[in-house]
Amino acid sequence: MKSDVIVLGAGMVGISAALHLQKRGRSVALIDRRGAAEETSYGNGGIIQREGVVPYMFPRELGAILHYATNRASEAVYHLSALPTVAPWLFRHWLASTPEGKAASARALRPLVEHCITEHEPLLAEAGVAALVRRTGYLKLYRTDARLAEVIAVQEGERREYGINAVTVDRAAIAALEPHLRDGFVGGIHMLDPISVSDPGAVGKAYADLFVRNGGRLLDGDARSLESTPPGWRVATREGWWQGREVVVALGPWSDDILRPLGYRLPLGWKRGYHMHYRAEGNAILNRPVVDGENGFALMSMSKGIRLTTGAEFALRDAPKTPVQVERTERLARQIFPFAERLEPEPWLGRRPCLPDMLPVIGQAGRHKGLWLSFGHHHLGFTLGPVSGRLLAEMMTNEPPFTDPSPYRADRF
Ligand SMILES: Cc1cc2nc3c(=O)[nH]c(=O)nc-3n(C[C@H](O)[C@H](O)[C@H](O)COP(=O)(O)OP(=O)(O)OC[C@H]3O[C@@H](n4cnc5c(N)ncnc54)[C@H](O)[C@@H]3O)c2cc1C
Repeated sequence: MKSDVIVLGAGMVGISAALHLQKRGRSVALIDRRGAAEETSYGNGGIIQREGVVPYMFPRELGAILHYATNRASEAVYHLSALPTVAPWLFRHWLASTPEGKAASARALRPLVEHCITEHEPLLAEAGVAALVRRTGYLKLYRTDARLAEVIAVQEGERREYGINAVTVDRAAIAALEPHLRDGFVGGIHMLDPISVSDPGAVGKAYADLFVRNGGRLLDGDARSLESTPPGWRVATREGWWQGREVVVALGPWSDDILRPLGYRLPLGWKRGYHMHYRAEGNAILNRPVVDGENGFALMSMSKGIRLTTGAEFALRDAPKTPVQVERTERLARQIFPFAERLEPEPWLGRRPCLPDMLPVIGQAGRHKGLWLSFGHHHLGFTLGPVSGRLLAEMMTNEPPFTDPSPYRADRF
């Protein structure tokens, strides 16, 4: 059993790579140990962040570092016991987070982000899930005048520099856009271009179904069984060994599990994050995602209820869930929205795969023929899956890439 290409990992990034390779005439097997879009791509905020050019970097201001060091913030928490594992990565992230580093990452992300909606649109239509899309942008809101003024000053420069389409909103404008929000915010920014979906997991699954409908194979297998069998590769699946001339590692935060045994030492970290769904009181709704810019959480109407997504938790990648961040965030969220009860017995946990410079790795691994990589899409993997899939497929099929892929090379580290 064989195909031209084996794609390891059926999250948004792997599914999109598989679709783009298939569109270019390659036979593709997509292999996952769970189903399609069951991990990080299942439970994210569903925002296709057309404005997301400037990535989240490590704070450089002493005040902010001390704020996070107390471990009482809601937007970032850490497990003390995980620090020996996590701190070296955080140090590299801090090193990459100089103003120059941040600007370089933004310049490199821009061509990907600029194509995020135009690459999703045809897939949303072909996969039959265009009805899940809301074209209402999202709101990033602040609770204090001081913070709002600071953010507006920075954002105005970024908006001009990167062509981000957004407007500032005051209390009255917020009330008009989101009548069910309580009066906790003094103002903020309405990001106009992003679109969002009411079920990102369903979108991922619909993209995978499209891949299968078009002749692709979605197989159950463990990527850690990958073996080099020159001139190609093979992976053990429930249906037996599957062979491919080329292989794509798109395992998100687990990509290291394959690459380390092959001798690659890429600084792949992860920022864990949670979601929980709530019933809204009465007829309360949100027309668009709302991000609390001071506390790092977001609320959005989803098919299952109002979803609350949290900021970053620094813990061992596969450590059990800890409820602390959801509890802290829920208290803050109840101040601004009329939540009734939780709709799930326990929160969902996802892991944002992150490289220190907040750029993904897209391209050849380097030392093995036919070994390709696409992972590390941090806070933007739902946004960037299709555009990364296109770029990777262009590189693999010797088409001229739509953008210079060199910023995403694996050997930049
Ligand atoms: C709380 C939260 C909110 C977010 N909100 C947004 C948002 O609004 N917009 C946005 O763009 N992004 C958002 N993100 C980020 C986004 O979800 C991720 O960047 C994206 O899902 C990463 O996709 P991926 O395909 O790389 O990884 P994943 O979706 O994690 O896929 C990796 C796949 O690899 C498989 N796998 C792992 N190990 C093995 C193995 N040994 N064998 C076989 N298969 C294996 C897994 O089962 C999984 O299916 C958010 C993330 C979080 C946590």
